[in-house]
Order: sequence, then structure tokens, then C-alpha cells
Amino acid sequence: MHWLAIVLTGLLTWNPLQPPTNLPRYSMHVDLDYAQHRLAAQAKVELTNRWREPLSELVFHVPPARIAGVFKLDSLTIDDSSQPPSYGLRDGFLTVQLPRSLPLGARVAVFMAFTLVLPPVQTVAGFVECSLGWSDVALNAGHWHPVLVPYDPLRGGWQTWKLSTIGDPYVTESADYEVDILAPPGVKVAGGGEDLREGNHWRYWLPAGREFGFVASDRWEEAESLVGGVRVHSYFLPEHRAAGLTVLQAAADALRLYSDTFGPYPYRDFRIVETRARGGMEFPGFSYLTDEYYAQWPGNARSFLVYTTVHEVAHQWWYNIAGNDQVYEPWLDEALADYCAWLFYRVQRPDDAEWWWNSRVNRDLPALPVDATIYQFDDNMVYLLTVYRRGILLFTDLEKEIGQPRLFSALRGYLYRQAYRLSNSDDLLATLTRYANGSLAPVLKPYLTAPPWLASCADRGERCTLGAGLQPR
Ligand SMILES: [Zn+2]
Repeated sequence: MHWLAIVLTGLLTWNPLQPPTNLPRYSMHVDLDYAQHRLAAQAKVELTNRWREPLSELVFHVPPARIAGVFKLDSLTIDDSSQPPSYGLRDGFLTVQLPRSLPLGARVAVFMAFTLVLPPVQTVAGFVECSLGWSDVALNAGHWHPVLVPYDPLRGGWQTWKLSTIGDPYVTESADYEVDILAPPGVKVAGGGEDLREGNHWRYWLPAGREFGFVASDRWEEAESLVGGVRVHSYFLPEHRAAGLTVLQAAADALRLYSDTFGPYPYRDFRIVETRARGGMEFPGFSYLTDEYYAQWPGNARSFLVYTTVHEVAHQWWYNIAGNDQVYEPWLDEALADYCAWLFYRVQRPDDAEWWWNSRVNRDLPALPVDATIYQFDDNMVYLLTVYRRGILLFTDLEKEIGQPRLFSALRGYLYRQAYRLSNSDDLLATLTRYANGSLAPVLKPYLTAPPWLASCADRGERCTLGAGLQPR
């Protein structure tokens, strides 16, 4: 195949990405009963009304409430009131009526206590069933806590969505997390953010994260390395030590490459852990990978182990910093994360790049739009081949059209402009078009649905008012 020259910008120093100061704040304490697979949690969620209209209610997504018998809400209060507010929990969404309307700039605190009894991990099911559960390897606490849904005054306020077994059916705004997990002796905890551990209190400080996930295990060994001031930690089973060290090296190499190319990684630590799961899953400052990839690792980079590692690392930029609606526009993070994996192989593992392209992309891919919603699929493999793999083709064609330096400049521009927001397809396409100095419609048309903006506002480099990001829910 034809290889494009890789022009790396070198070890540039980017301005740090400054998160907003008025993000919601989650303070959570968790008592972890590892042997019984139970969590007892107290959460305080503080929110300032940032919108120019008063709020009469708050809406939380409670993913564990979508699995029968897992979630129990023990108490709920607001501010200093001892009276529980009126609330309803339906289809995984908790709606809490505020005792009085909350004007712009006013702050409210919600206190919740809840218990989770985790199910066994279901590896034959989708990503959702694997993110929360236990196995003989570890206990997965992904998507375990109530999290405020996005608020959009132009679309009727709090945004909710239907459950799907396809993709990652989560949409989250950035928030600050302070989490204290009390674990039994001998159990290690790995989560997102800075670890301020005291004994078996595992304290984490995670600023501007989309959610807080963690995994705990009584079996892990651990290794770490320092890359550009970031401590990368790999946790693995003793029998998979060589694979665990390979994950550490790949994650460190990817972190350096993406930081140099797009902008700085925002935390001091990144953790990646082995657990029972399907594939991998990203969380802010943290990812996990299935133990199957460690057990089947062939001893080199031509493996799901290395590919999935570097895909998950890329989500720290595309999902956590520049967020997106993972239900309606999953291509914004998944196609970019897979394109970054392709970049990783070309730059960091060039001897394996052709293998990677041929085994992942150079095959029959479904002729479906890359910017499809998760509801347009009923099979996770078709979803992956369309949104991820055809997504790589889309960005590779853009690379050929406008050149790699210009494409990277556009992606940096998109990242900085959309940092700590929820962006949509218009934001990305308008930025790409601005940097392209010409119409991208001929390149994009084979991959994307063809809404009016493709030939109009985005082509003029303007922000569009109608597009894939504004579909009615
Ligand atoms: Zn992904």
C-alpha cells in the first residue's frame, strides 16, 4: 500500500488545557465488600446552575439501575433539608424535584446513599454488561454511580436516551470527582486521577472527568513507568507479567505520541488494568482490558492486546477531554481513537503497521454511514466495523486530501475548542473545513449521511445550526 510520510511535530509544548472552574463536583465514599461483591456508597453532588433559566429538577443517569436487582437507593436529601424530595427512578434515570427553583448562579447539593450488589461479569454480552460486575480476576466498577445527564436549553433541558446493548450508551459532562474507597486489606484498587492513598483508603482526585470508574483485585501485580511527567501504571495477573509489561510500554508510547501530536494529557497518572471483560473500556485517567487478550498475547505488537491498549489511551483525548454524545454520534470518539491506533502503529511500531492495516481495515467493511447512531445497529461487530474501522478510512482519506500536518492542526484546534464540552459532528467538520482551505464534501460524502450542512455552512467554515448532533431524541 501507499504509505504517507509521517511528519511528527516533535516534542512541542502545548498550552495546558484549563478546565472550567464551575463544573459539578462529586464527593463519594465507597465501602467495598470485595468477597460479597457489594458496594455501599454515599455521594454528594454539588451543581451550580450555569444556564440562563431556572432549574426545577435534576436528572441523573443511574446505569446500575438498568440491571435488575443491582441498585438500591437508600436515602436522598437536598441541601440541609432532612426531608427527602419528590423523585422518580425510571428506565435508568433518576429525576429529583428541587424544593425551590434554582436560579442562574445558585448552587444545590444532593446527598445520596445507595447500595450495589454486583452480578457476575457477562463476557458474551455487550460492553455494558461487562463494565459492572465481578469475576475470579477482579471486580469491575464502571458506570456504577449516578451521574447528571447533560443539560441543553435548546433541546428541552435534561437529555435522556434509550438503553442499548450496542456501543457505549453513556453521555456525560465533565465534572470534578473526589472519591474515597475503603477496600479490605490485600485488595488493590485502580481508578482514574491522582491517587492519595492512606492504608486501605484509596483516595482519588479526578478533576474534569466524564465519570469515575475503578477496578479492584486481590490478585494483581503492578508495574509503572514515567513518561513526560505522567506515571503510567499497569496492573496484571502474575501469570501474565510479560503481557502486562507490554501493555505498560505500549500505553507509555501512545501517551507520549498523542500528547506530542494533539495536546497534553491532563492528569499525573494513567492506569490500565487486566480484568474479565469484553475487549477494553475507557474511563478518565484509566482503562481496562480483558484478561483474554493477556492470555492469548502472541508475544508481539500484532495483537489485540497492544491495539486495544493504544485505542483506549486515545480516548483520553477523544471522549474525556473533547467529549461527545456516544449514543447519537459515537464516531466522534471511536473513529478518532481507532485512527490514533493506526497512527501509533505507523510511528511507534512501523514493522507491524502493514499487518495492522491488512488485518483491521483492508477487508470487507459494511457500506453504512460512519456517523450512524448506536440505534442503527443490532450487532456489535457490524457497529465496530462501520464506526471504528470505516472511520479510520475516513480520517486516512482526509490525511491524503489535506496532508497530515494540516489534519493534525485541525484536530488540535478541535480539541482545544471543544475541551470539557460535548461537541457534535458540526463542530468537528466545521473545524476540519476551516483548516482544509476548501470543500471536504467529496471526501466526506462516501462516509457520512448527507445532511444539508455538508455542502453549506460547514463548507464555509461556519458553525451549523442543523446537523447530526441535533437529532430529536
Ligand atoms: Zn473505543
